[in-house]
Amino acid sequence: MRTLAVVGCSQVVTLRGPARPRVGGELRELGIIDNGGILVGEGRIAKVGVREEIERAIEPDTEVIDGGGRILLPGFVDAHTHAVFAGNRVDDFALRAGGASYGQIAASGGGIRSTAGKTRAASEEELFEAASRYREWFVRSGTTTVEAKSGYGLTLEDEMKMLRVIRRLGYVPTFLGAHEVPDEFRGRRGEYVRSVVNEMLPRVASERLAEYCDVFSEPSVFPIEDARTILRAARRLGLGLRIHADQLEGSGGAGLAAELRAATADHLEHTEPGVFAALREAGVQPVLLPASVYTLGSHRFADARAMIEAGLAVVLATDFNPGSAPTPSIPMVLSIACTQMKMHPSEAISAVTVNASWSLGRGQEAGTLEEGKVADFVLHDCSDYRELAYFFGVEHAHAVFAGGKLVFQRC
Ligand SMILES: [Zn+2]
Repeated sequence: MRTLAVVGCSQVVTLRGPARPRVGGELRELGIIDNGGILVGEGRIAKVGVREEIERAIEPDTEVIDGGGRILLPGFVDAHTHAVFAGNRVDDFALRAGGASYGQIAASGGGIRSTAGKTRAASEEELFEAASRYREWFVRSGTTTVEAKSGYGLTLEDEMKMLRVIRRLGYVPTFLGAHEVPDEFRGRRGEYVRSVVNEMLPRVASERLAEYCDVFSEPSVFPIEDARTILRAARRLGLGLRIHADQLEGSGGAGLAAELRAATADHLEHTEPGVFAALREAGVQPVLLPASVYTLGSHRFADARAMIEAGLAVVLATDFNPGSAPTPSIPMVLSIACTQMKMHPSEAISAVTVNASWSLGRGQEAGTLEEGKVADFVLHDCSDYRELAYFFGVEHAHAVFAGGKLVFQRC
C-alpha cells in the first residue's frame, strides 16, 4: 500500500494526550514536536515523530513531501455551522451597517425567514451547488470536519432536502427544524412545535438523516418549555442534543442543556457563571461562537476565561451562516478568541481541534495527530502555531489533506 510522508515541519502540533476533551491547564498542552513529520498509510496516521524517526520509516514507494519549515496541525473541526442555504443576506448586512438592528431587519421580513424562503424555492441540486462553493472555503482555510444544521426549510420536505444535501457534503448532520417559526405558523407556535415533534423528527430519525437535534432556544423564538419538549422527543429517537442557548438574552438555555445532559450548549453570551458547575457535572461542552458577536457589532462575548476556570471543555466554532456569521474561517475565530475573549492561542487551538471533535462524537477519529486516527492534517504557512491567530485576515493553509489525500494546495 502506497504511503505518504511529510517531513521538515518546524512544529508538528499533535494535541496528543488523554482520549477525552481537554479542560483547565490541559488546553495549553499541544504536544508539539519540533522539526517533525508524519507518516500516513491507507488514509490513517501511521506515525508522528521527529524528522529522523519518520525518515527511518520511509519505504521506497513512499511519497515524501517537504514541509519546508511550515507547521503541521490536525485539520480544524468546525462544530457549529449553518453551511447550507440559498441566496445570501448582503442586503441585511448593508442595512445593519447603516444602523438597523438584527431585530428590526427580522421584523421587516429579512433574517432567517428570508433565507428560508429562498432555501425552500431552491432545488436539492441548486442547494448542493451553492453549499459546495462554501465547502471549498472551509477546506482552503484548513477545516476538514464540519457540522451543519438544517433549519432554513422549516417544512418536513424542505428540512429533509437540506439534510440530504448535508449528507452529500460529508458533514456531521444536525436537525434544526426549530430554528424559527415559519410564516405560515405565525401566532401558532405550539402547532409548529407539534409538527416538529410528531412529523419531522420521526421521519428524520427513521431515515437516519441526522445525528443530532438542535433548537434555537430564545424567549422570542422557542422558549425553554418548547426546547425541552423537542429535545426530549429527539433523545427518545436516539439523536444527540445540541442547543442554541442564551445568545440574545439569558433565558435558562444553558441550564436546560445541563438538565438534559446535552452534548453541547452553544453561544452562551448571556449565561450566568453560576450555571457553569452544572454544565461541567453534566458533561456538556460549551461551543463559543465569537464571529457572530463580531458580525452583529456587539461586544458581549461569552466568558471563556470563567468557563475554562470552571473546568469546562470549551469549543470554538464559526457559526457560519448568511446572517450573523458569514465566515467559514476558523483562523478568524482564533483571532477573535485571543483578542476579545483573552484565550491563549494554545487554548484556542485545542478548542477548534481536539475539543471540537469530541463534541461531535468524533474524538476517536479526528482532532489530534495520533497513530491510528484519520489522516486529516494541514500544512500552514507559518513557523510557529501562534501565528495562526496573530496574523489575521490571511489564509494560512498551504496544503490540506483529508483521509491522507491532498484536497487543497495553494499555488
Ligand atoms: Zn447557530
